[in-house]
Amino acid sequence: MTREHAARLDASDPLAAFRNRFLIADPELCYLDGNSLGRVPLATVERLRRVVDDEWGARLVGSWDDWIDLPERVGDAIAPLIGAAPGTVVVADSTTVNLHALVDAACGLRRDRRAIVVPSGEFPTDRYVVAGIAAARGMEARIVHSDPIHGPHVDAVAGAVAPGDVAVVVCSLVDFRTGALLDAQDVMTTAREKGAWVCLDLSHAAGSVPVDVAGLDVELAVGCTYKHLCGGPGSPAFLYVRPDLLPQLRRPQWGWFAQRDQFVMGDQFEPEASARRFLAGTPAVLGLAAVEEGVRLVAEAGIDAIRAKSLALSRLALDLIDERLVPAGFELASPREPDRLGAHVAVGYPDDVQAVGLAARAAAVVPDVRPPDRLRLGLSPLQVSFTEVFDGIQRIAEVVTSGAHRAYLGARSRVT
Ligand SMILES: *Cc1c(COP(=O)(O)O)cnc(C)c1O
Repeated sequence: MTREHAARLDASDPLAAFRNRFLIADPELCYLDGNSLGRVPLATVERLRRVVDDEWGARLVGSWDDWIDLPERVGDAIAPLIGAAPGTVVVADSTTVNLHALVDAACGLRRDRRAIVVPSGEFPTDRYVVAGIAAARGMEARIVHSDPIHGPHVDAVAGAVAPGDVAVVVCSLVDFRTGALLDAQDVMTTAREKGAWVCLDLSHAAGSVPVDVAGLDVELAVGCTYKHLCGGPGSPAFLYVRPDLLPQLRRPQWGWFAQRDQFVMGDQFEPEASARRFLAGTPAVLGLAAVEEGVRLVAEAGIDAIRAKSLALSRLALDLIDERLVPAGFELASPREPDRLGAHVAVGYPDDVQAVGLAARAAAVVPDVRPPDRLRLGLSPLQVSFTEVFDGIQRIAEVVTSGAHRAYLGARSRVT
């Protein structure tokens, strides 16, 4: 595997030009963490300047005429990327808050159910939200086993769901740790047979893999916008509700942004019939404007072209891991087949993985560190080139083979 091979892949990459649409402050830096925080699109820099100067600055409160519908407008822009119909997606708050709102609403409607199911390897906030709702409602948070590499197997989910006893199964489509893709159709079929709803967390999937929530017939979905959708730090998250369920579901917080005829300011809470009923308070306009630009870029590239490049990036990364990282003492900690992966891949390192991460940064590579022993390599298709992935993995191998990471043993950064 040579750098020339990676350069040839760049030369024939139909999405290559999209990388130039992002702000790249340091051309030497290999950014392999777009799965944690996507780079900033140049269009976003300009858009935020306009929102601040022309809208907030010049038009002041009068800009609310344009801002008021942003949660739905940006939701409608995300909808085709996840296979949802217009009016079924809104953007607001964080993934954590949205997940809580949807799962609690589902449990409120399905009061005869005793349990909420979540995989043991699920992202922490998802597990905490499930535990919190279960505690508040006197339900059971039922944990299903996740394989450390492949994530939850459909048989494990089937074993945890008895007919009629589970309100919702909460599960990520792309595993945050290993990038493993869930067999979503199988999980849906199993859940449906037992009468359980499914809430898919699309945080790592939105903008990186084609998703079809309507085709899968999932009841609920959530996801964040600052990973492959490039909405920026703390940008608001999206939520989806299957259209026929919308009128029946109510989130626990009754807020004025859900209210029909909001500015009549009536005495009684009467929420909209659309997904707007899942809004609560005043939306974060700066974040929404940034999400709109990131989503526009993803839509312009097209999710199928993005997936095609993602598969090629994964193939390159998997080959380089075998060729350069495994001899340096790493092991692959993700599925080996690109079509079983989202847009990141994990490797294990037995010693001080935080030291490796810090030394990699000093060598102008940003991987992401997942203690106790994992590095994740983000391969966000619009933002990285094949040579960037080549150089990044090569430099990580050098950091370890040269012993450069030893200077960082025991060193810690606050955020990993
Ligand atoms: C990134 C991520 C989140 C983030 O939740 P926030 O509330 O937006 O901080 C949640 N769930 C999964 C699976 C994630 O990957």
